Amino acid sequence: MSGIMILHPGREKSLLRKHPWIFSKGVSEVRDPPENGGDITVRDSSGNYLATAAYSPNSQIRGRVWSFDPAEKIDAAFFEKRIRQAWENRQDLISRTAVSAVRVIDAESDFLPGLIIDRYNQVLVVKVLSAGAEYHLRDITAALEKVFPEDVIYERSDEAVRKKEGLAERKGMLKGELPKMPLAISENAGMKILTDLENGHKTGFYLDQRDNRAALEKYCRGKDVLNCFSYTGGFSLYALRGRAKSVINVDVSGPALDIARENVVINHLDPGRCRFVKADVFEYLRKARDEKKKFDVIVLDPPKFAESQSQLQKACRGYKDINMLAASLLNPGGILMTFSCSGHMTPDLFQKVVADALLDAGREGQIIEYLTQAGDHPVALPFPEGLYLKGLVIKVN
Ligand code: SAH
Repeated sequence: MSGIMILHPGREKSLLRKHPWIFSKGVSEVRDPPENGGDITVRDSSGNYLATAAYSPNSQIRGRVWSFDPAEKIDAAFFEKRIRQAWENRQDLISRTAVSAVRVIDAESDFLPGLIIDRYNQVLVVKVLSAGAEYHLRDITAALEKVFPEDVIYERSDEAVRKKEGLAERKGMLKGELPKMPLAISENAGMKILTDLENGHKTGFYLDQRDNRAALEKYCRGKDVLNCFSYTGGFSLYALRGRAKSVINVDVSGPALDIARENVVINHLDPGRCRFVKADVFEYLRKARDEKKKFDVIVLDPPKFAESQSQLQKACRGYKDINMLAASLLNPGGILMTFSCSGHMTPDLFQKVVADALLDAGREGQIIEYLTQAGDHPVALPFPEGLYLKGLVIKVN
């Protein structure tokens, strides 16, 4: 028997709209609370069934909805059904682009809160971010074994946010053995990319930028390209394939740049046109400005600057700073491809910050493309928070 969570009057509204979060403020009473992450029935103040959720007593998000159907049991069969549906939804993307690495489950956006599953060839990388997903990890693993019987399963739950849910960081095998790292995946008509699933960022690679990497290619013929926050050189590979004259990769991570070098080689692109600079991007851009360096195309793909709403102002200053510096480094007619992956930064605000940055740089700009996360990182309509990646392609005069 699961416990019962009763909401304050009026607090059922977001659940009736199928939003999956129950905030602690909305909860009036919890009866027979289950252990951390266990299932709980959510009822409105009159006792009507609203949802079956995962109970998270340590988090501000006190409940995350698994199901809005009172008849649905949260077990291996439930996870199998959801995972099969998500996998089915991605078949079109896979057959269209011959991509070998995809996000299979994107947490709330695939109706499985707190659970991320990326598949690299035949390796499933699982990230467990909520108490509920942790509680049901055996069911999730069993479901994955059914849907992907040939695959090995590796857990990368080494994320600090788990603390908010009362969970420690962890990583390790859930099934089988990892192949030798780095593992070569392919995306967008045969681009090969080496990924380190064990020690790389996130689950190993930034799958969400797949379409945007490809979008860069057309701007690069004969151009001098600067790829800031390059990680393993993803954007640079497309710049080179698009016949860039030169490409500079800047990142603080030495291991990422080592892989970036190998990525150029395995794609038979010209390493002679490519440089790899281990540096802080803020410092690099400032120095480049002082040295009056110029580029034709600049990519800015920084990490999340705002982890919470309270960090938003500081984040805005960071975004403005790098965009201002980048704009001032561009030749007339240059292209700035700039991103923010902070969910707290809305598209409107991001565009405003970039506008301010160009103003400060004394440059005029026009947006010629709006970019976002790839389709295997969907946004479920009841959960607009699922939109986090915003990109602008700006023609700078
Ligand atoms: N564009 C990449 C993903 C970039 S992720 C792709 O398509 O795959 C962000 C990168 O920024 C990480 O590789 C991280 O090492 C790097 N980074 C974070 N802070 C940095 C800083 N201040 N200066 C330089 N690199 C930084």
